[in-house]
Amino acid sequence: MSTPYPLTPGLCAIILWGCSMSTQNSFRIFYCNDTELEQLHERLKLARCPHCGRVGTLIFNGKTYGYHDDSPLLQLRRQRVICNQRKACSPGCGGSQSLFAADTVPGLQALTKTLWIFASLLLTGRQAYPAFRGLITGLDIRAAHRWREKFRLAQARWRVLLCGHRPPPESPESSDPLVSSLSLFPSARCDSSDPFFDYQYRFQRGLF
Ligand SMILES: [Zn+2]
Repeated sequence: MSTPYPLTPGLCAIILWGCSMSTQNSFRIFYCNDTELEQLHERLKLARCPHCGRVGTLIFNGKTYGYHDDSPLLQLRRQRVICNQRKACSPGCGGSQSLFAADTVPGLQALTKTLWIFASLLLTGRQAYPAFRGLITGLDIRAAHRWREKFRLAQARWRVLLCGHRPPPESPESSDPLVSSLSLFPSARCDSSDPFFDYQYRFQRGLF
């Protein structure tokens, strides 16, 4: 996978922050490009198992591919890592964890870019179905309702992570709490074209 989006200053800052984190033994779930994935491969034996905390027991165990939203091209979406307990010399716990490309939303076919365009249209005041019709995607339109519901359920966590312990800014243009929550994503620190990608990469948390 190549870097899917231009490296804006905001995204570069996040990537630098991420690279500094990955020099430690912490386990990162979302990676931003092929280079970082190679680094994760190289450092896997130095990484700490997120389940038992042991170092040196993690191994790769399978890949999952998915189609792009609007093309038949396959893309590596997920790599599974397990804490190896199959050998006597590897006292792993058997726990598993997945590594995701940061433009992959775990559990969804749609990529972060598509979801952000959808969210951007909601921010302009469109309802879910008209917003979905503005996308270039082969997905069923019923996804519009599912996505909006997922947004609604996730917004409390977004607010905590994006605002910290500060109250969220008022959104005078709309009384819709979801629109107010989505308006938190584009910020001065995060000026890339895909804030959902940045969110997953920065916080190492799935969007939903
Ligand atoms: Zn383990």
